[in-house]
Amino acid sequence: ALKRPADIFGEGRIAARGWDTTADDVLAAIENARNTPLPDGKPLTVSEPTGTSVTVKNPATGETVGTVLEADEATVARAFDDAAIWDAPPSERAAVLRKAADLYEENYGVLFALLAKEAGKTIADAIGEVREAVDFLRYYAREGENTVRGPRGIIAAISPWNFPLAIFTGQISAALMAGNAVLCKPAEQTQMIAHKAVELLHEAGVPRSALQLLTGDGPTVGAALTADKRVSGAVFTGSIDTAKLIEKSIAENLAPGTPLIAETGGLNAMIVDSTALPEQAVRDIVASAFQSAGQRCSALRCLYIQEDTADHLIKMIKGAMDELAVGDPWLFSTDVGPVIDAEARDGIAAYLKEKSGSILHQLKTPETGTFIAPTMLKVNGIDDLEREIFGPVLHVATYKARDLEKVVETVNARGYGLTFGLHTRIDDRVQAVSESIHVGNIYVNRNQIGAVVGSQPFGGEGLSGTGPKAGGPHYLPRFLTPASGQDGG
Ligand code: GLU
Repeated sequence: ALKRPADIFGEGRIAARGWDTTADDVLAAIENARNTPLPDGKPLTVSEPTGTSVTVKNPATGETVGTVLEADEATVARAFDDAAIWDAPPSERAAVLRKAADLYEENYGVLFALLAKEAGKTIADAIGEVREAVDFLRYYAREGENTVRGPRGIIAAISPWNFPLAIFTGQISAALMAGNAVLCKPAEQTQMIAHKAVELLHEAGVPRSALQLLTGDGPTVGAALTADKRVSGAVFTGSIDTAKLIEKSIAENLAPGTPLIAETGGLNAMIVDSTALPEQAVRDIVASAFQSAGQRCSALRCLYIQEDTADHLIKMIKGAMDELAVGDPWLFSTDVGPVIDAEARDGIAAYLKEKSGSILHQLKTPETGTFIAPTMLKVNGIDDLEREIFGPVLHVATYKARDLEKVVETVNARGYGLTFGLHTRIDDRVQAVSESIHVGNIYVNRNQIGAVVGSQPFGGEGLSGTGPKAGGPHYLPRFLTPASGQDGG
């Protein structure tokens, strides 16, 4: 558990990644935000929105956080009528996105508060998320600054609750930087954060006609966004089932070849062989499985430990799990906060009940709020996992040294391909496994979460997504008209 602000920020001034502030300033901003009423959410459209008001609850406490107006179909239709591509030179668009990055930094207090209260994020996770959102804005500003190709038209952007600021901002900033008109729909669970982000983008100078926010539900807003003939591209992060629905809607309603960038789930594995450094492996296993309460697409779901060191390592993992503080996301000392909502909690709890005979270790949780206790389960291998469990649940299997290649084949055969972790001190093994594993992001001797914009483009293959990777050089070009003779990606 973190004991002091310096555990997150380091000592002295926080100048990392261009952010110049101090731990004391951050603490003061968090304290201030905790006690300040949060801005409600509503569609930010050119025309006056209409719809239904819903109440937002804090997942940790059940307290009311605010209200959100959810758009009706008429509001979506008017947003299409009002949408216009962002007709400014790329250098001007870049300047506006950089200004938005500055505004995100100036408003981090309220952004932290929204992330903690609406999404149950811990302070450490909230800081990482604001930094990532800022990175996306500055990265795509730079990537698109010298483009000569034009925008595709109207882009529908549908984003998830697990990174309600970072992924939301990443999608729309790339599409906007390419000059498109964007109609964005955030996840129902995290609409207040999206509202604040779009307010800041508008304040920075993004024209309202180029960026309209449609808070609302999937069946009303999401469905309308991917069925309107005026859409010329879509970007989505979320479940594979929703990705398939979107793909179907695009195929049925839109022009052939309308691009869809989809980032979906994963069944991510890590292999730890007997040459690995145990202390390092354990630290990285625990971070990969339990940070963000396991609610990352990149999170470790199935750990394979070489048989001869398994007992020792499992004992060490138990010890490290016991050090995790589960609870109030506002406390600096908290490592694991709640899961997103009661539906998520009940689904994971039912799974754990079903598997109760295989529990190797399980922590206790606070009695109220949507918490799931970090849990380690014994399995024979990844084939025992019927689906991705999106929470703090680590499955552990053992393998014999001679079966290493088979393990890689089994992981590949599941068809997902997002992240993969390898802990070993044998260089040839790093080479061989990296060549044979089919995933977007391979991490060696470190944790397998937290890809950094610009240096670790993030995205999968197979059932995990279409690519191009977010935060990499091929992403923004997908939102531009294809260059002659190329596919634009
Ligand atoms: N980019 C995040 C990471 O590297 C995960 C994003 C997601 O969960 O969709 O951990």
